[in-house]
Amino acid sequence: MKALVRYGKEFGGYRMIDVPEPKCGPEDIIVKIKAAAICGADMKHFRVDNGSSEFNSIRGHEFAGDIVEIGKDVQAWQVGQRVVSDNSGHVCGVCPSCESGDFLTCREKVNLGLDNNRWGGGFSKYCLIPGEILRIHKHAIWEIPENVEYEEAAVMDPLSNAYKAVAQQSHLLPGQDCVVFGTGPLGLFSVQMARIMGAVNIVMVGLDEDTKVRFDVARQLGATACINASQEDVVARCWEICGGRDNIGLVIECSGANIALKQAIDMLRSNGEVVRVGMGFKPLGFSINDITAWNISLIGHMAYDSTSWRNALKLLSAGKIKVQPMITHRMGLSEWEKGFEAMANKEAIKVIFHYDFD
Ligand SMILES: [Zn+2]
Ligand SMILES: [Zn+2]
Repeated sequence: MKALVRYGKEFGGYRMIDVPEPKCGPEDIIVKIKAAAICGADMKHFRVDNGSSEFNSIRGHEFAGDIVEIGKDVQAWQVGQRVVSDNSGHVCGVCPSCESGDFLTCREKVNLGLDNNRWGGGFSKYCLIPGEILRIHKHAIWEIPENVEYEEAAVMDPLSNAYKAVAQQSHLLPGQDCVVFGTGPLGLFSVQMARIMGAVNIVMVGLDEDTKVRFDVARQLGATACINASQEDVVARCWEICGGRDNIGLVIECSGANIALKQAIDMLRSNGEVVRVGMGFKPLGFSINDITAWNISLIGHMAYDSTSWRNALKLLSAGKIKVQPMITHRMGLSEWEKGFEAMANKEAIKVIFHYDFD
């Protein structure tokens, strides 16, 4: 089968190559991929040539498909079930995170299709769900509700992530306001979560390039105002829209930009919260004394847990969360470069691949 793989440990190194089909062990499950989405985490490696010829892994951690084979010892799953993976491939099972069922913050977690791992992910024809993860973390895969499409299920990763950021990490109350930085899937799902939870003003902050497609989609999904940070004074505009500093108690920061974190801290009321979803790789370059001076909480946020998945799947199935406006491109995996290109120039929000080599 063909697979989009990465070479080397450094950033970069995508290639489409032939790989052997996975072999199902006694506790393993083989999933035939029906839909796999490009994530921001995949984009970091695009157009970067790291010069390595050392095989890393098959990529693609946001995928859904059909169970086509189960190992002889698998009891909980059957061939023919439609499933989506939460992309965990390995966790230790004994650390404080694992003990509390919060497997995605296990320091030893290995993601299918994201980290350097021996199993591989969804940018291919088949993916093996390792029996060892299913033994420890039975919710490593979920059955897809009948009325949910494969392509919708394939983006459960950012949806569950935003669910946890807004509903489980923040203390948002109905009637309060929420500012969301970053117009990618995490930002757009955060907007929807803020809407569901009863936020009044939901302000989306983006840049010049977001005026092409993403601001319109944000408005469609519940943003009550969009601010172009390339042109406008973000803090002043947020105060104006929300009626002053006192109404801004929550910022969901999905952009990862240092300036966004600074603006978030600057605009918040005393005792406010920033949930930092996005990641940046440069030192901050500014003081965070204001979080001490005004008792502001800076909440680091990673991934989701099974509660996020259970509830996010129910919201999706009930039609309370919309995914379709965010799926802007669908194409064969053979056209992978075109898909990554559309993401890079921000024409796309979500690109869904299907396997089209045979
Ligand atoms: Zn992802
Ligand atoms: Zn662990």
